[in-house]
Amino acid sequence: MYILGIESTAHTFGVGIIDSNGNILANKKALFTTESGGMTPRIVADHHIEKFDSIIKDALNEAKIKINDIKLISFSQSPGIGNCLKIGAIIARSVSKLLNCPLIGINHCIAHLEIGKLCGFDENNNLSKDPILLYASGANTQIIGFSGEKYRIFGETLDIGIGNFIDTFARYINIGFPGGPKIELLAKKSKKFIDLGYLVKGMDINFSGILTKLKNLYDLGHSKYDLAFSLQETSFSMLIEVAERALAHTGKNELLLGGGVACNKRLKEMAIKMCNDRGAKCYFVDNSLNVDNGVMIAWAGLLKFLGELNLKFNNIEELKNINFEILIKKYNNSNMKSDYIWSKVNPYLRTDEVEIKYLK
Ligand code: AMP
Ligand code: MG
Repeated sequence: MYILGIESTAHTFGVGIIDSNGNILANKKALFTTESGGMTPRIVADHHIEKFDSIIKDALNEAKIKINDIKLISFSQSPGIGNCLKIGAIIARSVSKLLNCPLIGINHCIAHLEIGKLCGFDENNNLSKDPILLYASGANTQIIGFSGEKYRIFGETLDIGIGNFIDTFARYINIGFPGGPKIELLAKKSKKFIDLGYLVKGMDINFSGILTKLKNLYDLGHSKYDLAFSLQETSFSMLIEVAERALAHTGKNELLLGGGVACNKRLKEMAIKMCNDRGAKCYFVDNSLNVDNGVMIAWAGLLKFLGELNLKFNNIEELKNINFEILIKKYNNSNMKSDYIWSKVNPYLRTDEVEIKYLK
């Protein structure tokens, strides 16, 4: 069985196709970028409208299947930019009506976590079982772990996400969007650390004070290389500190990195060092799955679909014994069938508000 997932929470319009064994058949995306300035919701939504049909076609071609072969559609339903979420939801609902197949709305943060459990490997090529996720992306920065039928948030940013923080400074120094990769390159050219403050409060962090200080120091003529270096050292240390404390408090010993900022080599280096120091394992996914993508939405869609039908499982091997044809019929004949309610978006839904029904 094939599942198509649509991602459109913010800058990326992504389409992923997987099969019901969790094999990835296609991962296509269009990323909204600028040379200067940031994201205007209306303009990003227009970008997604312009790109969606070609991205869906490219994904079907890459997967070597026809649209009629798709038996389940999922889309990012929360959290995100309302204008962008709505585009993905309308497209997903239209395709699901056309194909008469179930439509599943997905929490984007949970999708990052689930794809990490499917494709995130440690240095010995092993998967994690029950990780703490350091989810470092544009708008979201959370430390997440499974406990009592929910993915609980053990710590988070109290103001802006780490990616938005980096992007805002990048915009200030006129290097465009997304700023993360460019700041990483600038940071490599300096070893001079400037004190920017350090804001960890218990399990939570915040970035706006540091952002103001960075802007002020830039205005005073400090080198962009030194500031980029210090930005990374400071903010990544804050992330690693709360991630380590979450491991210590929960007694878990697996750290998974996810989200666009997890593409950063320096952040990965710090995470590995912290894990080595405390005898924990560190897991990474390929960068193509770290940044927003439709594959993680497709995979999380399959899992949620099973949960809605009260099927629980522990590992991927168990999926191979499931007869999906029967399940789809059962779903379509039930009152869970895709409709208006299922395609409603929720820009503010939190990770810990979602009940996880598919995990044992
Ligand atoms: P996401 O929202 O998960 O797709 O992540 C997007 C964010 O990741 C943006 O804020 C980017 O600036 C950031 N990002 C991407 N690559 C890197 C990198 N190499 N270092 C730091 N941040 C990055
Ligand atoms: Mg994301």
